[in-house]
Amino acid sequence: MITSASSPQQQTIRLSNVCKSYGNYPVLKNIDAEVARGEVVVICGPSGSGKSTLIRTINRLEEISSGSITLDGQDIHAEKRTKELNLLRSRIGFVFQNFNLFPHLSVVENVTISPIRVKGVAPDVAHERALKLLDRVGLAEKAGAYPGQLSGGQQQRVAIARALAMEPPVMLFDEPTSALDPEMVGEVLAVMKGLAAEGMTMLCVTHEMGFAREVADRIWFIDAGQILEIAPPEEFFKNPRHPRAQRFLTDLR
Ligand code: ADP
Ligand code: MG
Repeated sequence: MITSASSPQQQTIRLSNVCKSYGNYPVLKNIDAEVARGEVVVICGPSGSGKSTLIRTINRLEEISSGSITLDGQDIHAEKRTKELNLLRSRIGFVFQNFNLFPHLSVVENVTISPIRVKGVAPDVAHERALKLLDRVGLAEKAGAYPGQLSGGQQQRVAIARALAMEPPVMLFDEPTSALDPEMVGEVLAVMKGLAAEGMTMLCVTHEMGFAREVADRIWFIDAGQILEIAPPEEFFKNPRHPRAQRFLTDLR
């Protein structure tokens, strides 16, 4: 999939010299990386290394201090017009660790609200599409339920369906299985694997190294706000080059 990653057609997301500080504290330092169309990237690294901050800057849930982030050439952080920014953001699906479903809306309403409100999709059309998406994540029979009536794994699958309802070309996942009981991790990873197999461009922060090995095209290893290594999983897990990556992998075992 990753032929000439620098040609405009191939790159989807490009981070150029991205820096971010909280006050005087630098959390992201000169991040330079790109994600090709159809590529699955797994971001891994120790707790507090800046993984969430990094992924959140991509759809501008966090502002950056300098540098640029583009989606198909469009600068996400330079966009000042609200409407254009919202459209740009709607092209980047985001799945949170804690699902972030609207508790007062039913499952199907959670999935239809953004297409209706942001994209102006007709409610009946949005509803029909939502039912298909719920079916795809194995939750067709839960359309009328409320998030509080679902297990964590079910809620996360609804959250994925909700993100997919905007038909984004790119999906970001921030530790989507970390808040789940172990027996529910598999059902969420299975949905993510399905997406990857269909060619979705994905950036996933996860500690699920089995998933990383099996599904990722490349691993980005981040420590103390810097990407120290970018490598295909077979290389990264067998032969990590950076001493910090070696230590990280040893500590996991
Ligand atoms: P990770 O997801 O890898 O655990 P984070 O991106 O959440 O790391 O955090 C990176 C660093 O930035 C941590 O030291 C964290 O304490 C700090 N940090 C995160 N969010 C904020 C914030 N809103 N204000 C100040 N510091 C923050
Ligand atoms: Mg995090």
